[in-house]
Amino acid sequence: MDIPLPTPEPNADSRPYWQAASERRLVVRHCRACGKRHFMPRSLCPTCWSDDLEWIDCSGRGSVYSFSIVYRAPTLDFAQTAPYVIALVDLEEGPRMFANVVGPGALEVRIGELVQVTFEPRGTDGALMPQFMRVTEAS
Ligand SMILES: [Zn+2]
Repeated sequence: MDIPLPTPEPNADSRPYWQAASERRLVVRHCRACGKRHFMPRSLCPTCWSDDLEWIDCSGRGSVYSFSIVYRAPTLDFAQTAPYVIALVDLEEGPRMFANVVGPGALEVRIGELVQVTFEPRGTDGALMPQFMRVTEAS
C-alpha cells in the first residue's frame, strides 16, 4: 500500500510561507510594531495584535526543544513512515516550530541538538514541506 502523505493547504495567512517553502526558503513573520517573530503564519502579531508584519528569511538552523518518536501512527499514510520523529524546533530567529526530524540517524535525535532545515517533497504540484535534519560533524 502506498498512500501519499498530506500536502499543504495554503490559506490567506500561510500562502507566502508555502510559496517560500516551494522555493526551498524557510520564512517566518516579523512584527514591525514590537519586533517579535512568530510561527505559525497569521495576520496579527500574537504578542501585540499589530497587523504591521513582514516576512523574513530564516537561516534554517535551530535546536531541538523537545521531540517524540511515533511508533504507532494515527493514520495509514503516516503509518508507512513509522517510526518517525516529531519535534519542536527553536529557530535561530526565535520562533518555535513543529516539524519532523528526518534523514540519517533521525531516531537518535536528542533535546538541545542542532538541526538544519530540509525540504521534503509532497504531492505532485511541487509542494515542499520544511522538515529538519540533525547536524552532525560530517555535515
Ligand atoms: Zn507585535
